[in-house]
Amino acid sequence: MGKILIIGAGGVGAVTTFKCAGLPEVFTEIMLASRTKSKCDAIANFIGGNRIQTAQVDADNVSELTELIKKFNPDMVLNLALPYQDLSIMDACLATGTNYLDTANYEPKDVAKFEYSWQWAYQQRFKDAGILAVLGCGFDPGVTGVFTSYAQKHYFDEIHYLDIVDCNAGDHGKAFATNFNPEINIREITQKGKYWENGQWKETEPLEIHKPIHYPNIGERESYLLYHEELESLTKNFPSIKRARFWMTFGQKYINVLEVLQQTGMTSIKPILYEGREIVPLQFLKSVLPEPASLGKGYKGQTSIGCQLRGIKNGKPQTCYIWNNCDHEVVYKECGAQAVSYTTGVPAMIGAMMVLTNQWTGAGVMNVEEFNPDPFMEKLNLYGLPWHEEINKKLPVETEPYV
Ligand code: NDP
Repeated sequence: MGKILIIGAGGVGAVTTFKCAGLPEVFTEIMLASRTKSKCDAIANFIGGNRIQTAQVDADNVSELTELIKKFNPDMVLNLALPYQDLSIMDACLATGTNYLDTANYEPKDVAKFEYSWQWAYQQRFKDAGILAVLGCGFDPGVTGVFTSYAQKHYFDEIHYLDIVDCNAGDHGKAFATNFNPEINIREITQKGKYWENGQWKETEPLEIHKPIHYPNIGERESYLLYHEELESLTKNFPSIKRARFWMTFGQKYINVLEVLQQTGMTSIKPILYEGREIVPLQFLKSVLPEPASLGKGYKGQTSIGCQLRGIKNGKPQTCYIWNNCDHEVVYKECGAQAVSYTTGVPAMIGAMMVLTNQWTGAGVMNVEEFNPDPFMEKLNLYGLPWHEEINKKLPVETEPYV
């Protein structure tokens, strides 16, 4: 049905490539390209069967990307490299008239700031070119946007309160490791928190607000309010939302190590001179931490990510909780990955499938919640991320009285 070019041979890229390879009726030809070709080859060998072509590409370089896209001529490019590469890959897609998908919004390398403005600015150019850019199609952002639009479509006239809750209750047995790219992960966690309330953003100190939240099959875990990019698109696309927050769990040990790293300057993104050479401390730190793709073996426990919503239906108050739990060990047995890579890589595959099978159509730059959620929800159940819902039960996030 279509050819895809996957860029980025990390934890997420490996899962998406594995899943796409298993669906030859949808993904007729697959190329995996990344900065380090040997990583693409290792993934292709693991999958076997000569289904995956591989290539080396520097995704910061638009002309190199354009040349590769012209040569392979895919119907869609899946950007599973880093947020820094979003704009260069979008530029190459525009130059070649190719559809685009990613899982994280653009961040400039020298400022730890993530917002959609840079990518939304491509709207008219993508429309004029008649191609589609699907933004944020991992789990969060991604499935959380689809869960929200599914809830709006089926259970609410108006959503008023949205809490996205993200728990990783797994144990990888390492002293300190991040579950996705360490540089991006640490930039996200160490910046100020932010949530939407009554038409404006409210800022908090990093990890300032926290409380225990109960997660299905897991129990109570301390959860920290963070800013997360889907809050920006969801409050724009669902303007009835009065308050939108994002919560993520961290163990005390993780926070202690992170604090020490911060206090010693190891998480800084300001370049320093080291033995006459400029280096960025956070990039150096990344190079000594385990790679996300290497964490799968021996990882035990589950993730639980979902949306807890409150609003009105037919003039009456209504609540809805939709979530998925994913087991690290089950995922490892299936494809050698850990659950954080899996919960991102599977939705990226499904998003590409939605476009290639004409279930998500149009031209322009769109966030996932702008499409019909139903076929995507159906595929989550089929391809490894089954979801559950509870309607009109007390929401676990609401540990304080209703406001
Ligand atoms: P990894 O660090 O494991 O993989 C990133 C890959 O991108 C590496 O193979 C890396 O190459 C490659 N890469 C980096 N820079 C370039 C470049 N200039 N040109 C070509 N390739 C490049 O990260 P993850 O797989 O964990 O994460 C991938 C993406 O998914 C990130 O953007 C992350 O933010 C996002 N994500 C989204 C989530 C969601 O739910 N929406 C959740 C988790 C992650 P090399 O190996 O040579 O360094």
